Parts: sequence; structure tokens; C-alpha cells
Amino acid sequence: MPAAPHPRAPRSLRHPGAGAGGALSCGGARRGAGTLAGGAGLVGSTARAGARSLVVAGGGIPGLALALALKRAHGEALGVTVCDPGLPAGGARQRGRAYAVAAGGRHLFERLGIWDRIGPARQPITDMVVSDSRLADPVRPVFLTFAPAPGDPEADAPEPFAHMVEAEPLLDALITAARAAGVGLAPTGLLRAEPERGAIRAHLGDGRALRASLVVAADGAASRLREAARIGWVGWRYPQAGIVATIAHARDHGGRAYEHFLPSGPFAILPLPPGGALGHRASIVWTEREADVPALLGGGPGEVLAEIERRFTPNRGEIALESGPSAHPLAFGIARSFRAERLALLGDAAHVIHPLAGQGLNLGLTSAAALAEAVTEALRLGLDPGGPDVLRAYERARRFDTLAMAAATDGLNRLFSNDALPLRLARDLGLGLVDRMPGLKRFFIDEAAGLRGTPPRLMRGEAL
Ligand SMILES: Cc1cc2nc3c(=O)[nH]c(=O)nc-3n(C[C@H](O)[C@H](O)[C@H](O)COP(=O)(O)OP(=O)(O)OC[C@H]3O[C@@H](n4cnc5c(N)ncnc54)[C@H](O)[C@@H]3O)c2cc1C
Repeated sequence: MPAAPHPRAPRSLRHPGAGAGGALSCGGARRGAGTLAGGAGLVGSTARAGARSLVVAGGGIPGLALALALKRAHGEALGVTVCDPGLPAGGARQRGRAYAVAAGGRHLFERLGIWDRIGPARQPITDMVVSDSRLADPVRPVFLTFAPAPGDPEADAPEPFAHMVEAEPLLDALITAARAAGVGLAPTGLLRAEPERGAIRAHLGDGRALRASLVVAADGAASRLREAARIGWVGWRYPQAGIVATIAHARDHGGRAYEHFLPSGPFAILPLPPGGALGHRASIVWTEREADVPALLGGGPGEVLAEIERRFTPNRGEIALESGPSAHPLAFGIARSFRAERLALLGDAAHVIHPLAGQGLNLGLTSAAALAEAVTEALRLGLDPGGPDVLRAYERARRFDTLAMAAATDGLNRLFSNDALPLRLARDLGLGLVDRMPGLKRFFIDEAAGLRGTPPRLMRGEAL
């Protein structure tokens, strides 16, 4: 008999569940209770007999955050497996990378018990300086700062609008917490997922097949699952690359970040926790014309450092290259839909945006929180967590916001990555106006922090 609708359930979830998700099974054989330890590497997925189950393809940060959030909320009532061929390497596969994590993401990691574990790996951004100039200009005039301004009602106790977080320790902490919570971790890829009656069958690279209620494709921008489900993709490559490096420097950064808009693209200097050869460190995210990258990076560390120094203005004393540089192709893309039958797209599998605002991962985290909420509501109502209404609710919660952020970052890149004089005047006037209006500044800070509108519960620091 279908469960009665919960009085607080969203309209979309007030329906009888369709089909049983079924217990997670390997190699076609249904398994009941206990640990899925069959075969190499599928470790520790705990679910009780008759429990629902979910498979996440992709152990990046959004995929692991979703798996951990759901496993912690539902324990043995939900089997959760993450599969990723990169899992044996843990966080080491992202060594040297760091991300700006907005306040909403911080709330999520606090709620998941991760934030304290990565204490030494995070650095608050307390101030941001934005400039707009040509490479050869002798100074980079400041048009906008995000330091707490006099007159800002929140200036007395401002929450940092973002933290720089090192990717390797963050991924390691997520993997450790997921394993401890009972998430199954499979160091193999998901080859294909086939919906069947009341469930979906996930075929892993090691030959096993898992029967689940829902598969989450968190397998990155080139998502194989998105393509197999024939979900359309609107996107293009930018003629730019994102160069990432870590530099060591002698003087403290005081938590200040810089973003220099140059005609070839933004050059960001983002504060990292203390350490390194000179005591202090910063992450460089440097956008360049793709065609210029071989010449810029081909000359060895000394020449790369010289190029960084040409763009690097804060007086930090001696600087040295600590890791990198590595160049990443940049693209824009958004899936035409975030769902198919028993399949949800998450993270870069659903959207890829320009890194100039440091929002790609943050969008993925917000989506992980929204999907965890939709699945949780269904489970609490006794409904099918992979049913169409759950996936519709997820898509409704996320697609518009994602589209808006993707369009905004694309527009900013077009507006700033050029040298046309009328555009330079217009954008510098705009930046100057924002700088003089505390209310408008607060609006942008809250937007960047992911705190505008009604974010999903986990992003507000609330339990699922
Ligand atoms: C230069 C640069 C700087 C950036 N800086 C920021 C920033 O400061 N802040 C921010 O919010 N965002 C930033 N981003 C965006 C951010 O890097 C991405 O949005 C984020 O890493 C996406 O995570 P993901 O897990 O969705 O995808 P990915 O990180 O691509 O992970 C996908 C995972 O799926 C796995 N996988 C692939 N195929 C399969 C399969 N078939 N089965 C199972 N697993 C599979 C892969 O091994 C991988 O681990 C930046 C991006 C760039 C390019």
C-alpha cells in the first residue's frame, strides 16, 4: 500500500512510489543485508535487507559530498556506492589544486563533519581587490574591493564570503568520512546504466552489476553517462586556458585575494594557508589565450615565474614557484536536462562554467545538497528515491540558478577579456559604482557566497 503523503511534502512528491528500488546486488545476484565486500575494492557499502540503494559514478568533491550526506542521513536504510577509477589514488589525483569554497559550501562541510578535519588546509578570504588594466600598464588601478566597508550593516561580524581549500586534503577527508559512514567505494568506472523494471542496473568496469533505485552521474564534463542517456549539451570551448600554479612568498597575504582583469583574461591571486619554502603561499588561477600557452609555459620554471611576476602586483617580497603550472582547457556547457530515467546529473556532468568567479564546484555542491534533500524527502515518505517526481524536484531546484550563474560568468568573461576602449570605460564605471554602494556590494557577496534565495538545507548548515 502506498504511504500516505506527508503534510509538509512538496506538491511534487505527493504521489505513491513507483516500483521498489530493490537491494543493491552484485553480478546480477540480489544481496540482502550487510557489507558488500564481494570482489576487489567494493568495500563497506552497508544496507539492510529491502533497503533502497543509490550508485554515484564519480568520486569528485560533489559526488562524494552527496554520497556522504545521504549515507549519514539514512544509515542502513540506504545503500550508497561511489565508483571512480581514480579512487585508489584518493585526493592525490588533485594534488596542488585549491578551490574557492563559498560560505554555503562551508556550511555543507561543517554539517558533514568535514570542515574541522581540514583545518590546516583552508584559508579564509577576508578581502578581495579587483583591477582592470593592460598587461604593460605600470599600475593596476583598483576599481572594486570587497573588504568590509563602513556603512555595511554586516561589517562588524562578516562571515568570510569564501575560503580557499586545498583539494587533496578535502578529498581525503571526504573519502575517509564516507568509508567510515558505510559508503561503498569501488575503484572502478561505471560503464553503463540500464533502467529496468522499478530500478536501474549499473555495470561497473570490473564486471559487476549493481541494481539501484537511482544512478547519479557525477562523472565530469565529458560524462559518459550523460551521453549514453542522450541528454543534449549546449556548450562551446573558450579560446582560453586556465593556468593553475601555487607560489610561495615571503610576506603574509592577510587573507586578501586579487583579481586582475587583463585583456587575455583574469589573473587571480588567492591566499592559501601558511607553509611552503618561504612561509606563505598563494594559488594562481591565470586565464590566457590558449594559443599563447605553449610559449608562456614552455620555457622552464624561471621564465614561468617571470611571467607571473609581470602580472603579480601585491608586495609579498620574494616569490617562488611551488607547484605547477598546469594548463586546463576552458569551456562553457550546460545539459539540456539534469535528469533521465533513474539518472540525475551532478557537478560538471551537468554544467561547466568559466573559473573566473570560482563558482563551478560551488554550483555542484549546491546541487548535491538539493539532490540529497529531494531523495531524503522521498525516503521519509516511503516513496521511490529514483522516481520521476524526485528528479523533477531536483531539476526544478537547480536548473534555473545554474543557468543564471553560467550566463553571468560567460558574460563577465566576454565583457572583461578584451581591450575595446568603450567596453573598458563602461565596465570600469560599473565596478566603481558597485564599489560605492554597500547594499549592492552585499548583494554580490551574498550571491557569490551562495546564500541568496532559499538555498538547500545543507547549504544553510541545517540537517537534511
Ligand atoms: C582552472 C580552474 C579553476 C577552478 N577553480 C574553481 C574554484 O576556485 N571554485 C569552484 O567552485 N570551482 C572551480 N573550478 C571548477 C571545478 O574544478 C569543477 O567544477 C569541479 O572540479 C567539478 O567536480 P566534478 O566532481 O563534477 O568533476 P571532476 O572533478 O571532473 O570529477 C569527475 C570524476 O568522475 C570520475 N569519472 C569519470 N568517468 C567516470 C566513470 N565512467 N565512472 C566513474 N567515475 C568516473 C573521474 O575520475 C573524476 O574523479 C575551477 C575549474 C578550473 C578549470
